[in-house]
Formats: sequence, C-alpha cells, structure tokens
Amino acid sequence: MNQAKPKPSVNPDIDPHTARAAQTAERELRAGTPCLWTNPLLADVPPARVSAGDRIISLADVHAARARFDRFAPLLARLFPETAPSGGTIESPLLAAPTLQQMLGLDARHGRLWIKGDHALPIAGSIKARGGIHEVLEFAEKVALEAGLIQQGDDYARLAEADARDRFSRYQVAVGSTGNLGLSIGVMASALGFRAAVHMSADAKAWKKARLRARGVEVVEHAGDYAQAVAAGRQQAASDPYCHFVDDERSLSLMLGYSAAALHLDTQLAAQGLRPDAHRPLFVYLPCGVGGAPAGIAFGLKQLYGEHVHCFFAEPTASPCFLVQMLGAELGGQGGNPSVYDYGLDNRTEADGLAVPRASELAAGAMRELLSGVYTVADDTLFRHLFQAQAAEGIQVEPSAAAGFSGPAMLTQSEAGRDYLERRGLTQHMPQAIHLAWTTGGLFVPDTEYRNFLDRGAALLAA
Ligand SMILES: *Cc1c(COP(=O)(O)O)cnc(C)c1O
Repeated sequence: MNQAKPKPSVNPDIDPHTARAAQTAERELRAGTPCLWTNPLLADVPPARVSAGDRIISLADVHAARARFDRFAPLLARLFPETAPSGGTIESPLLAAPTLQQMLGLDARHGRLWIKGDHALPIAGSIKARGGIHEVLEFAEKVALEAGLIQQGDDYARLAEADARDRFSRYQVAVGSTGNLGLSIGVMASALGFRAAVHMSADAKAWKKARLRARGVEVVEHAGDYAQAVAAGRQQAASDPYCHFVDDERSLSLMLGYSAAALHLDTQLAAQGLRPDAHRPLFVYLPCGVGGAPAGIAFGLKQLYGEHVHCFFAEPTASPCFLVQMLGAELGGQGGNPSVYDYGLDNRTEADGLAVPRASELAAGAMRELLSGVYTVADDTLFRHLFQAQAAEGIQVEPSAAAGFSGPAMLTQSEAGRDYLERRGLTQHMPQAIHLAWTTGGLFVPDTEYRNFLDRGAALLAA
C-alpha cells in the first residue's frame, strides 16, 4: 500500500471527545479497518432549510421532485411496460427481514430489521433510477415546454409521439459513471429520443457497457477512475450547447430526485403502523458512493422525521470518500475536497457502485448537520451479506447494495455506536427501533456474474 504523508485533518479547536473520535476514525480508515464515525455536528433539531451549492433547499423541493415524477408517470407507463401495472411509478417495496436479522445476529432487544428494496427498482435496476431519471425528466420537461410541445397541466404521455422525439433527438444527454448512473441516464434518455453518451471509468463492469450499447447509447471508455471519467464528460459537454451533462458531483436535480423516496417510504412505514417518533427511532443505512443518492434520501427523511431518524452512510474500506470529506473538510474546517488517495487508500473495491475517490461537495455540505455518521465495510463482508440476503430473504443484490447490512451491528456493537445511542438517549428505546438497510442495486446483474458473487460469499462463510 502506498504511504501518503499524514497531514493534520482535524481542527485542533474542537472538543477533546470529538477530536479523539475523529483521530480514531482516521487511524482506522488509513489502516483499511472497518470503523464507525459519528458526526459531532449533527443538529439536535434539523434545520428546515439547508444550503446545497448556491441554492437553499427545503421540504418543498422534495415535493416538487415527487410531483415531477407524478406528471411523467403516464409517459413512463407507456415507454416502459414493466411500470404499467403501477401506473408508471418508479418505486420499490419495504420488506421485513426477520430471517436475515437472525443471520446477522441483530438481537430483538435492539429492534427490527427492514429492507428498502431499491435493488429491484424498474428501468435502471438500482437506486440510480431515482436521481438519474429525475434529472433526464427535468431536462425533457424544460425542452418540451420551451418548444411548445406541452403546456402546464397537459398529459405528458404525448411526449412519446414523433414530433417530441424529433425535437429531443437534437440534444445529447451525457454523463460520467462507474456503471449504474450511466445505465439509468442512458436508458431513460434514449427511450425519450435523446442521443445519449456515457463516459465509463475503468471499474465499470463489461455487462453494463454491453447493456447500454444494446440500447444505442454511446459508451466512451476511460482508463482512469470515476472522477476522471466525470471530468472528461464534463469537458466534452461544455463545448456543445446541445449537450446536457448530468454532473454527479454537482447536480441538485439528481439529489432532489433521490429525496423523493422519503415521501413514498413514509406511506409504506405508515401502512405498517411504524411512523418514527420519540419512542420509535428509525436508523437508515445507505450505501454511499459520491454521496448524492444517500444525501438526497437522508435530506428528505430528516425533513419528515427530524431527530427521530438517524442516517448512516456505508462505504467500502478502500473508498471511504464521504468519510474523508467529513473528517477533513467539514470537521477540519479547511475546506477543500480530499480524496481517499490522500489517506493512502487505493479505491479498489468490488463494490463498483461505490468506487469513488472524492465525495460530492454539494452532498457533503447538505449533510453537514443532518448526517448521523459514516461506517466502512470490507469487501469480504459485502459478499457474505450478499449471500445471506439471498439465503434468508431471497433477494438479489449486488456487492455495493450489501453495504447497509453491516449497519445494525456497527451501531449496536461498536464503542462509537453505543456512545451515539447513549448520548442521544436512545438506548432505552432500542427494542422498538427500526433498522432500515437500503439495498441499492442488483436486479439486472447477469446470472453468471451473480453466481460468482454467491459462490464467493458462500466460500467466505464456510471458511
Ligand atoms: C451509485 C450507487 C450508490 C450510491 O450513490 P451515490 O450517489 O454515488 O452516493 C449506492 N449503491 C449503488 C448500487 C449505486 O450504484
């Protein structure tokens, strides 16, 4: 492992307890040891308005994103027959996971395990169906309104007609991706008639590229990592006024698309009689790459449930970009956008959806006072949990999507986790706690690939 120069990343003025916790986390993350860090800046009462880049966002923006999905639902039902039974909604089930809970060793005294099943989201087969599709729809809506193809209040299903497709074909939608965002943007953009280009990093899986090419999407392969693929795409798009670049490191439209998930989850929890409150805390474990998806969802949930929801991001031990961002920039107060390479890590992980060296500053800024913490997971653990999710609950997830399953143990068994529960007065309420692992992708993983994942998990469990 290359040895990066240690540099002080924690602000010396913060209180000793916080400084010690940050130093412990930093030591563990440098060593590649799984760890949990909790956020000392977490607000007791979350702010209703949060600054995100150069905008201020609130619950109204979450509702606006949801309303956009609703306006487009008739069109989606027409373009994607698999969504017709649900009227064109892109949503996933909330699943009880009692058997997996046992396998993971989560004692009932610490609450119950649930799964938010975004591994099965239609169209994209991953959580990217939320943010990615939202941004393509927002762009299509703008083009269509400007061209007079639709008026406010029209049935958007007519955007599947030849005149609309003809107009859309003048534009290109481009994106940089490790795979899943490209799948979401590429499939949605080409279904509407846009030209689509996806800049893929070296970690992108061959089957994801093949699936895109089969849909007529231009796949541009880059030898570098995810951040380099994004930079290349951004640069190419800047010179073309007919190109809309979906910027995963900076896009508010993406983040707000993800945030709409909170509203549907609220309905699902209510249907189970499980609305979070002072006696029933909700802990949410969200796999994190650049941070846009988990930050969007955490933002939406914090607006709905305030201090009764606790959002933790999960990252691979080799790619904890959000953790280094929070430790170095948010907490250290030095600003900037550190990378995992600065901490001597190599960003090599089988969790390709999370193989990101540098966090989104937009997401990190929005999470400053809303995020409860970040923990890291070793790749081997991802494979064990991937296998157990299949064995216990019959669900197919990809390695990235298994990162949430380590959350309950991290929270209830580690010193940092127990300390968090104690300090927030949550220990006594744990029997009623809801632990929600967000499974973020897997539906379209090819059979042979998935078999290999299962075999690897089984072998690790047998060892
Ligand atoms: C992209 C992705 C995530 C995380 O989303 P970010 O916005 O990159 O943080 C999690 N899981 C899977 C499977 C993904 O593809």
